[in-house]
Amino acid sequence: MSEYWMEEKHTDGYRVSWKITNILHEEKTPFQELAVVETTEWGKALILDNAVQITEKDEFIYHEMIVHPVMYIHPNPEKVLIIGGGDGGTLREVLKHKRVKKADMVEIDGKVVEASKRFFPEVSCSFDDPRANLFIEDGIKYVKETKEKYDIIIVDSSDPVGPAVELFGIDFYRDAYRILNEDGIIVVQSESPIFFKETFLKVQSYLKQVFPMVYVYWAVCPTYVSGPWTFTMASKKYVPDKFPGDKELVDGLKYYNEGIHTAAFNLPRFIREML
Ligand code: SAM
Repeated sequence: MSEYWMEEKHTDGYRVSWKITNILHEEKTPFQELAVVETTEWGKALILDNAVQITEKDEFIYHEMIVHPVMYIHPNPEKVLIIGGGDGGTLREVLKHKRVKKADMVEIDGKVVEASKRFFPEVSCSFDDPRANLFIEDGIKYVKETKEKYDIIIVDSSDPVGPAVELFGIDFYRDAYRILNEDGIIVVQSESPIFFKETFLKVQSYLKQVFPMVYVYWAVCPTYVSGPWTFTMASKKYVPDKFPGDKELVDGLKYYNEGIHTAAFNLPRFIREML
């Protein structure tokens, strides 16, 4: 096979090229174009609508960081809802916490789950945990209609295109507020503050209209555009504090630790100035 490069177009002036050694799977699902490719530098990668969602080599950073800060800020997270996250990486991290009794996950596209089970067994390894319940449906509809209440909601969505657009909307955040317990926390992936500044600021503005407290934190996710990636936590009661002294770190971490817990909320000046 001659050399093959996949292009990920981020703006009219910026594209990232990935050298592909094999296309392992390609399909058009009812919601998006899905592909699994073998890259030379990052191992296997899951692609949706031409945007890299996870790579084998660095998925742990994003998944640990979308989950563990809020799981340690909340004193007793027993019921967790994940919206999106079809690859299963967020579910894997949530279920590392023994205190979790029930983790519901609502993913719109069952084909993402199937592909992850087939090609990313180390990411999709927790779907059979008895505490996990997978619902294949629209997360927007689920939060509008469910009678369940949660301690934590984690929005592990793709970028705001196609079915994910409304996951970045104020009506979704209002519904999420309603189904959170009175000391509940929501955390959302809030995109690159450099490449998706507008979306990042819109998320801040909407969450501040709905929740009394909103905090941004960040990590460097090398395979997401530009590197610095933000997460925004909105809370009814708890504030980010030092890693709680009475708790122990869960097993199997590669990125998150007590120091990262504090450091992540210390924002670079350019992000602080945007807020
Ligand atoms: N970490 C990734 C990133 O930032 O690129 C996100 C990964 S995860 C694969 C995103 C998932 O959100 C996809 O599987 C997609 O199908 C799902 N999704 C998009 N819109 C959704 C909706 N309205 N309800 C539930 N899941 C949705």
